[in-house]
Amino acid sequence: MHCWLEPQLSRKAHTVTRLSDLSNAAVAAAISEFQDVGREAFLSKYGFGASRDYFLIHDNLLVDTKPLVAAAYGIRHPDRGPLKPGDFSGGIGGAVAVLRRMDFRVGTRAEFYPPRLGAEFGSRTQVYEAFGGDKVAGIVCFPGETVVNVFSDADGPYADDPPTLTAPFGYRGQGLSGPQRVHTGGNLRLERARVNGEAVRFWYRPRGGSFTFLTWAVVLGRSWIAGVGADGVSRPELDWQLEPVPGPAPDEWPAEVVASLQDSAITTDDDANVPEAAPTTTYVELIDRIEGRGQSRRPTGVVRTDYARSAAARRAVLVRSKGLCEGPGCTGMPSEPNRGGEPILDVDHVQDLARGGEDHPRNMIALCPNCHAVKTRGANEAQRRRVLGRVAQAAHAAMGL
Ligand SMILES: [Zn+2]
Repeated sequence: MHCWLEPQLSRKAHTVTRLSDLSNAAVAAAISEFQDVGREAFLSKYGFGASRDYFLIHDNLLVDTKPLVAAAYGIRHPDRGPLKPGDFSGGIGGAVAVLRRMDFRVGTRAEFYPPRLGAEFGSRTQVYEAFGGDKVAGIVCFPGETVVNVFSDADGPYADDPPTLTAPFGYRGQGLSGPQRVHTGGNLRLERARVNGEAVRFWYRPRGGSFTFLTWAVVLGRSWIAGVGADGVSRPELDWQLEPVPGPAPDEWPAEVVASLQDSAITTDDDANVPEAAPTTTYVELIDRIEGRGQSRRPTGVVRTDYARSAAARRAVLVRSKGLCEGPGCTGMPSEPNRGGEPILDVDHVQDLARGGEDHPRNMIALCPNCHAVKTRGANEAQRRRVLGRVAQAAHAAMGL
């Protein structure tokens, strides 16, 4: 059934055999020509397009591998002339293998020149063109490395705000319509980064700006939330929790981040039929879910990061608030929606987790931005916390629990 492939395969295999008599001197001469005439003229002379994935590095210069081998062949065999693009394979089993056997340094752009913090590109396509590889909508791995690149865009379907680089932040999973899946595409890459505790590159593009490599981040956890796809249909969406770290090496990360990553392994709900992902979930169902997940705190007093539990608790508070600020005597504008059509409400812990507060709706309150600012920056903080604590407990009790 695939016999039509055989002549092509054997021809290529034969060419690889012929390539084995290339000499280092011929390759060196071709590199010199590349340096002398420049990349564009070199590619045009030999009739090749630009390499996307693999390059030979020489004097900090990246040389396109397949055109280089073609030219070197012509130098070695002046009677036969340079090879043409269809004569041989340029990939890892072809030109790349030949050059590596000759001890030249061959690799991908990301191996030789990985993007540095602050690097800027106008679009995701430009990032892809610069580094090559396997393009997955929204989340990309560059060839030659396993690092996951996460892209967030103020103009994108989720209209993400820029993250503060000092606190964990959410990142919506990949997949614009239909239920999102953990074990496919970009989400699978993020899941591997989470399980393996590997840092990802986080890129952000503000409205009208460029994609900038903003920070390294680790994947602390994930949870399912109720969302609406690009087709307007309700569906479960993944919410990844990322935390900025100074660099890719774990020995640079704060001890709390390392501990949270170890705990992150307890977030293992793979199917999207969990209560926090269903749009019609009730407060009681969410509370069952939260309490069923057990302690939110280790016996040692260290706050544990169970993002799924935490997401369910936040969702419960929003359900309880019915979209209105729970701040007593609120005079803000609690009914003004955000760009996603949702009320602008922050769900806040009355007593901070770090100071012994519980990660449970009876210690949590939905506040409009004004009331939230008064809570965190206003005078009489201790008294205000006591009032909010009573409000939260009363609101919880009023739900029949
Ligand atoms: Zn308010």
